[in-house]
Amino acid sequence: MDTYTIIRDTSGQARLRVPYRGSALLRHPMYNKGTAFTRDERVTFCLAGLLPDAVMTMEHQSRRFYDNVLRKDDPLEKYIGLAALQDRNETLFYRVLIDHLEEFLPIVYTPTVGRACQEFSHIFRRARGLWITPEHRGRVHEVLRNAPFDDVRLIVVTDNERILGLGDQGAGGMGIPVGKLAIYTAVAGIHPAQTLPVSLDVGTDNPELRQDDLYLGCRRSRLRGPEYDDLVDEFVRAVKSRWPKALLQWEDFKKGVAFRLLARYRTLLPSFNDDIQGTAAVTLAGMLAACRITGAPLSRQRAVILGAGAAGVGIAKLLRDTLARRGLQGEALAEACVLVDSRGLLADDREIRDEYKRPFACPAAVAARLGLGSDRPRDLAAVVRAVKPTILVGTSGQPGVFDGSLVRDMASRIERPVIMPLSNPTSKSEAIPADLLEWTGGRALVATGSPFSPVRHAGRTIRIGQGNNAFVFPGVGLGCLVAHATEVTEAMFAAAAECLSQAVTDGDLAAGNLYPDITSLRRVTRSIAEAVVRTARDAGVGRPIDDDQINGAVAEAMWEPCYLPYDPA
Ligand code: NAD
Repeated sequence: MDTYTIIRDTSGQARLRVPYRGSALLRHPMYNKGTAFTRDERVTFCLAGLLPDAVMTMEHQSRRFYDNVLRKDDPLEKYIGLAALQDRNETLFYRVLIDHLEEFLPIVYTPTVGRACQEFSHIFRRARGLWITPEHRGRVHEVLRNAPFDDVRLIVVTDNERILGLGDQGAGGMGIPVGKLAIYTAVAGIHPAQTLPVSLDVGTDNPELRQDDLYLGCRRSRLRGPEYDDLVDEFVRAVKSRWPKALLQWEDFKKGVAFRLLARYRTLLPSFNDDIQGTAAVTLAGMLAACRITGAPLSRQRAVILGAGAAGVGIAKLLRDTLARRGLQGEALAEACVLVDSRGLLADDREIRDEYKRPFACPAAVAARLGLGSDRPRDLAAVVRAVKPTILVGTSGQPGVFDGSLVRDMASRIERPVIMPLSNPTSKSEAIPADLLEWTGGRALVATGSPFSPVRHAGRTIRIGQGNNAFVFPGVGLGCLVAHATEVTEAMFAAAAECLSQAVTDGDLAAGNLYPDITSLRRVTRSIAEAVVRTARDAGVGRPIDDDQINGAVAEAMWEPCYLPYDPA
């Protein structure tokens, strides 16, 4: 097992102990420096003759790679180029990614990663991470022993059933944990040797994949029921015993399963679900930033959320918890945030099949008082008319449902309606920002899930903030690791939301933008991590640490990709 050991010499210089020589060293992405191996290292590590003569710097290598990627027009080709670099030299990959974050984030993650997942079995080059299949039942701990590095601290795991908005992608879903962990390393500085992407490849119910003779996944129908639960349970317990310090992020599980697994395991090992909790925090941050513009406190807002899946219910939970902490209770709290699903208002006087939705159903008495009794229309337009929301959120995946008459009706009662069509990809957005601004005479405060270009309206340029989860999960993860958190709590996401909303500058707000610029991601991540460390400590789920030591502890934990001097192991 490779322990990837960084040591400090007597002068405090970090050095790396390297157990490989010759071509094995050049083929190992965590140790390879390519043409940047010094002349001395080429002698010590038996590389003489295996490299062209010139010794390059990382800056040279980065420029060469970047120039090459720019020659590719198709984003998927750029993705393949970046993945190939990650497979040959991870240090250089992260240098390039950090230096061109704004440009490459949409390549290593959404939207391009979605295509990469769909094309996975056709563009596959080299395996990354761990694959756990039904065949491994009873010996998952042995599979975990095969992980390439010993000191894993951060695991992102998916069962591939709800990949972005693309449904069941079978083995191709591995692109998501790989992409998310790349963001963790680039933005939060978590060392790549401490990360592990995992696919629970339990089969696929996507017939196109199963019929594709190049399909690389487990070619069977999805494992479900008790057998599925047993496999997940074995996996979780094996993680806990193999890497007791690891944080586990559940990713892109289908909504019912996602809620169930989160509830079952969140106190067994530190774990969270980004689709539910990260989305909630990033959305709440946008609402809090909007409050900074309007000057009206969150406790005076009324939110209507369309789509009661993982994202919508997650947002409702965090918003309600936050409002409750700010003093709202009873009917006032119920009225402040209502959900609308595909059958209309979510109310407790109708049948609700999904258990995770029930705690968020509007009480019948409140619905009746609002004029939304079970004998009245309860579609989105009726709910907006009755509730008079100040905030409208879309997590339904239904393009165009925030239409002109609905939005004009909402905007007729308030000066600055906050409208957040969060569904991805762009084609699924509940509304187009330019339309929202047109229908509201430029008054709407708009944030979206997908990136949109700035909108010109009445001589003003309005920037459209993107509620990108990358603003939240890296800081939460880093904070938990620095805090040695034993549990990931809702309060951490509330703290992250508060911190993110404060990172929006007055200039951003003046330009109508509810989120900071993506170029500030590393800075924002650091302050979120610090807030999470404090929150963990105060709740007794993190180590004791003085306030004045938190900043240094977080900075120290963040890896910067650069070539260290090597010593033979
Ligand atoms: P999900 O499948 O869990 O939930 C979607 C819900 O919408 C389902 O419950 C579905 O029944 C409901 N729905 C379908 N048609 C509807 C209709 N006509 N009216 C009302 N509800 C309807 O998916 P999710 O994970 O909750 O994601 C939902 C959307 O939000 C996706 O498009 C996703 O890309 C997006 N999202 C955005 C962000 C972000 O911007 N940061 C984060 C997470 C998810």
